[in-house]
Amino acid sequence: MFWHTRCVVEMEEEFRSMEEQISDLRNRQAVLVNDLDKINIAGSTGSRSTVEWVTSRFDVSKANASDLVFAARELKRHRRIEHRLVERVLTFDRTVAMLRLAVAGADESTLVHSESLDLAGVGRLTARQRKITRKDERQTFQERFAVAQPNLDESAWRVSGVLPGVGGKLFADALCMRGDELRLLPDGDTCTRGQRQADALVAMAMDSLDRTGDTEASGAGPSVSVFVNLNEANGTGGEKGCEVEYGPRVGPNTLEELLCTGSVQIIGLEDGQPVVRSRTSRAISPAIRRFVANRDGGCTISGCTSRYRLEPHHIQLRSHGGSHDPENLTTLCWFHHHIAIHQQGLRIDPDSPTLCRRLIRTPVGPDPPV
Ligand SMILES: [Zn+2]
Ligand SMILES: [Zn+2]
Repeated sequence: MFWHTRCVVEMEEEFRSMEEQISDLRNRQAVLVNDLDKINIAGSTGSRSTVEWVTSRFDVSKANASDLVFAARELKRHRRIEHRLVERVLTFDRTVAMLRLAVAGADESTLVHSESLDLAGVGRLTARQRKITRKDERQTFQERFAVAQPNLDESAWRVSGVLPGVGGKLFADALCMRGDELRLLPDGDTCTRGQRQADALVAMAMDSLDRTGDTEASGAGPSVSVFVNLNEANGTGGEKGCEVEYGPRVGPNTLEELLCTGSVQIIGLEDGQPVVRSRTSRAISPAIRRFVANRDGGCTISGCTSRYRLEPHHIQLRSHGGSHDPENLTTLCWFHHHIAIHQQGLRIDPDSPTLCRRLIRTPVGPDPPV
């Protein structure tokens, strides 16, 4: 143990010493760049800038070249920082960060204070120093946008955008808060923060389309048509997915979800023409919905207190012959129903008590017959 600890201390020392040498060398490079800048090396060699010249000439990354050129130009104007770099008190990376802070208008005491922060902290301090003019604000506002772009078959969407400061903070806080409300999965499984926020965004979108989101039991699900290409389905067991009418291409999980929540009509296509049409699967009747909601009194998953978008779920899946019989239905919140069961593949343990259900992970079964 002692040997191991000593070894790590020695390696740390060696690492620190190397970093000092790297900083020394970068400093010397910065002096050279400063001299070459003065004789307009970029212009005389046909480069657009000194950064471009350093990048192309010495195979240096653009970020490193930018730091080098920036330091070369600013070090002579900030003698105290330069002195501390030469004295090996500051690494080259910290020197560049402090120079950026100084250029942003920080006073001497702020610069001294920055030495007690990590490099990310110095970056944040620098961002706060920058003054935002009316022109900057207007430009940020003009450049605001949000888009949701589907891939070619609409089976996934990429969401991106730029929001002005206050609106963006509001959005981030709301997404964070909503994501944190979503429950953890059993067996120690957790969603990542990004996954929780993606689910939160969908929930927020649903609420804005349907203001009944927090009612005891929302109404019957949508009635949709699902098109299945029989030429492909016959050959692959339906793995190629299917298309929802006027909507995205979906896979077996979403198809099961549609069957559970609404009435679905399957339309078989051959060569693009409808050749078979199922009877529209009946949605759960309002009377049975009310009965099940009243019987369960909330999400039946053990420990769950969420009352968000309570819905009946078929314990034996519809695609496996499960009926609308109340014995086969259990009330679940939106997260446990849509995320945990239909998208993440967990199942209700049929042996768990009716009002204290457990979720279990079952092996991935065959795709539902469509
Ligand atoms: Zn369901
Ligand atoms: Zn729940």
